[in-house]
Amino acid sequence: MKTINDFNFKDQRALVRVDFNVPQSADFKVTDNTRIQAVKPTVDKILNDGGSVIFMTHLGRPKGKVSDDFSLKNIVSEIESVLGRTVKFCGDCIGDEAAAAAQNLKPGEILLLENLRFYNEEESGDPAFAAKLAKLGDAYVNDAFGTAHRAHASTSVIADFFPSTKFFGLLMAKELDAVNKVLKDGERPVTAVIGGSKVSSKITIIENMLPAVDNLIIGGGMAFTFIKALGGSVGNSLVEEDKMNLALEILGKANGEKVRVYLPVDAIAAEEFNNEANHEEVDINHIPEGWMGLDVGMRSRQIFHDVILNSRTILWNGPLGVFEMPNFAGGTVSLGNSIAEATDLGAFSLVGGGDSVAFVKQFGYDDRVSYVSTGGGAMLESLEGKELPGVKAIND
Ligand code: AMP
Repeated sequence: MKTINDFNFKDQRALVRVDFNVPQSADFKVTDNTRIQAVKPTVDKILNDGGSVIFMTHLGRPKGKVSDDFSLKNIVSEIESVLGRTVKFCGDCIGDEAAAAAQNLKPGEILLLENLRFYNEEESGDPAFAAKLAKLGDAYVNDAFGTAHRAHASTSVIADFFPSTKFFGLLMAKELDAVNKVLKDGERPVTAVIGGSKVSSKITIIENMLPAVDNLIIGGGMAFTFIKALGGSVGNSLVEEDKMNLALEILGKANGEKVRVYLPVDAIAAEEFNNEANHEEVDINHIPEGWMGLDVGMRSRQIFHDVILNSRTILWNGPLGVFEMPNFAGGTVSLGNSIAEATDLGAFSLVGGGDSVAFVKQFGYDDRVSYVSTGGGAMLESLEGKELPGVKAIND
């Protein structure tokens, strides 16, 4: 993996693609600056070498139109305070103004270019647009893991203009390392916990992970498709009828790969889909008619706990229940505690993909696991075994 640590940036202007697509309040204040914090090591390394940094990023979905609501000038002060450095801003990402700003940049300085997605050419991967961006810098650094699954002008096409001076930033390197630790060189036993609502959205991940894991824990709404396919009565629980055969196929494949699969053995079932509904703990195969399983039960939590505490590498994607409702968050909280405990005992734990990061933060587990991915879709695709365009562009 060619990272910025393999290069001295002295007197070099580094064009750094970052993912500053941060959430904002109605008055444009940044409400979560994790993605800005995450690129600090990359910025520090380049500037300490005596180079300068030109940030390229998108923000939101301006759909090819210039719009104040999506302007990056709204987040300049947040970037400055997180990085502890002054940030210059240019109101365009290409053209004369950008060229002049880049030209005038001195070693140790940072320039932020305006939203790349003010141009449709960014998302369409237009080579002429990528060439205009490329002209602004001497080296290209990709540190935008959250956007690495997109083949856009600034995330992949641009790399062609820097055949010998293109590098992974330190955040990208960390994310890719974390995936490799789980899929390739994880200390065994390796356990994947896959929860969430639907089998259909997790199927490729499960299939790709089977050769890499020793244990597979399945929870959340998706577990009921498996339970029903195995002959259980699941009442009104979430089921994808058309995925029941697929569920059985996965179980067969897991068996062939000698992967132990753990499905919930009990559930907290409710009369309705709301927090105040009547609920009780029932056997997973006997959810009463009209009721629905919204969380895993106590025996399941204990079984999952034992598996996790015996694991050395753990991947967690997706909640075990409807964690948004306090009465059905217990299984997910218990799982978070088990993973945190295993991590304290020396296991490597990675949380990532889709919305997983949201609940890990909500329940305060982000500091208690080894690594929380900054990329939702990009992490999901990595776990699916796909080579991300942003990664391929640097590796090629
Ligand atoms: P995903 O985006 O696929 O990771 O799914 C996350 C969603 O799954 C969350 O919003 C949960 O509320 C939902 N979920 C988890 N367990 C269940 C369940 N037993 N029934 C319905 N939805 C669930």
